[in-house]
Amino acid sequence: MKTYLLKKVLQKDGWHKNSYITVDDNQLILEISTEKPEAEVFPLEGYLIPGFKNSHSHAFQYAMAGLNESIPDSADGDDFWSWRENMYSLALSISPEELQEIATNLYMEMRRHGYSHVAEFHYLHHDTEGLPYKNPAEMSERLMVAANQAGLSLTLIPIFYQMGGFNSDPNDRQRRFICKDVDSYLELVEEIKKSAESFDNVIVGAGVHSLRAVKSEDIIRLFKKLPSGIPKHIHISEQIKEVQDCVSHLGQRPVEWLCENVNLDEDYHLVHSTHINEDELKKIIDSKANVILCPSTEANLGDGLFPLKDFHHGGGSYSIGTDSHIGLSPMEELRWMEYGVRLIERKRNPLCGPGENSAELIFHKSQKAGLMAMGRTTQDYFEVGQKFGGLLIQEDNPLFKDKPEESILSTLIYSAGPEHIKYI
Ligand SMILES: [Zn+2]
Repeated sequence: MKTYLLKKVLQKDGWHKNSYITVDDNQLILEISTEKPEAEVFPLEGYLIPGFKNSHSHAFQYAMAGLNESIPDSADGDDFWSWRENMYSLALSISPEELQEIATNLYMEMRRHGYSHVAEFHYLHHDTEGLPYKNPAEMSERLMVAANQAGLSLTLIPIFYQMGGFNSDPNDRQRRFICKDVDSYLELVEEIKKSAESFDNVIVGAGVHSLRAVKSEDIIRLFKKLPSGIPKHIHISEQIKEVQDCVSHLGQRPVEWLCENVNLDEDYHLVHSTHINEDELKKIIDSKANVILCPSTEANLGDGLFPLKDFHHGGGSYSIGTDSHIGLSPMEELRWMEYGVRLIERKRNPLCGPGENSAELIFHKSQKAGLMAMGRTTQDYFEVGQKFGGLLIQEDNPLFKDKPEESILSTLIYSAGPEHIKYI
C-alpha cells in the first residue's frame, strides 16, 4: 500500500486540489481523499490527467510514415488512391515478426506521447499468399504481445474485408485482408477472442472495413448478428470518390445508406465521415453513433475537413485516432481538429459557448467517446477500484509554471508536446 499526494488531479468535473491517492500493491486505487492519512505520503510532481485514448490505428502503416512525401517522376500527381497502392505493397511484405516489432515500437511511442489506450483497426489477417496462418489469429496475437510489452491497453477490432470495391472481386494485392463471407469472418473473430483471453489488457470488438469492401447484404447481416455492447467500427466517407461510387452502386450516399440499413447506436464508431451533408450529419447525431477523427492522417492524405462545428453544436460524439501514424501526438490531433474549424470559420474558439474553454471541451468529449470506442466503461478518470495511472504535466516547466488552473489544459493542447508530460 502506498499513498501519493498530487497538487492537482483532473476529474470529470474539473481539477481537484491536494488529493491523497492510496493504492494497493497492484496499483489499484483504494482511496482518494483530501485529508492527509497517517501513513507516509509520497508527493508526485506535476498535474495528473488521464491518458489519451487513440480510437483508430493501423499499426503496420507506421513503417511507411514519412516515406511517400514526394511524387515519382513517372506520376502526374498524388492522392489517397496512389498512397493506397504504396500501402498495399507494404502490407504484402510484412511478416508476423516484423508486425510485432513495428507495433511494439509504435505502441511505445504512443505511450510516450500520452496515449494510454488504442483501438487497432486490424485487417492484415493472412500470410503473404493470402492463406490463413496455422494459428488464424497469428497477426492479431502479435499486436496483443506488442501492446502488452508497451504497457498500452488494446482494443482489437478485427476487420471484415471482402471485396476490392463496390461490386468487384478483391484485388490480388488485398489478399492478406480477405474473409470470403460473414461466417468465416466470425470464425476468425472467435479465434482472436480465444487468443485475447491470455492477455489482461486486451478486449475484442468488431468492424467492417468500409461500404466498398463488403457486400451490402453481408454488412446488414453481420451487424444484426453482433451482440450489443461491443464496439463496432467502420471507415466511411473519407474520400469524395468513395461517396460518388457509393451513390452509383447503392443509390445513396454512404452515411445515408448506413443509417437506413443498419440499426446504429452508441456502439458504432464511424471513422472519418469527412464528406457528409447536413442530413447525414443529423442522422449520425440522432442515431447516437460516434465519429472518429484522425486530423494528421486526414490532412496528410488530402481527405478534407469534417463539419465539426455543426456536429459539435448539434451534440455529436467524437474521439481522435492516429490512423496511419504520420502524427502521434494526441495534443496535435486535438489541436488540428479544432484549428480546422478556426481556419474555415475565421474565428477563435468556434466550438465554445459563453464561459466555455475549447481545450476542456475537446479533451473531455474525446476522452468519453474514446473510451466507448475501446468498449471500456472504466479508466476514464480516477476512481476507487480502478488502476492508478495517467499523465503528469510538468508543473515546473516555464510553459506551465504560474499558469492559472483554467489554462492548464489549453496550454497542454495548444502549446505542449510529449516533452511536457510523463507517463506514470
Ligand atoms: Zn483507417
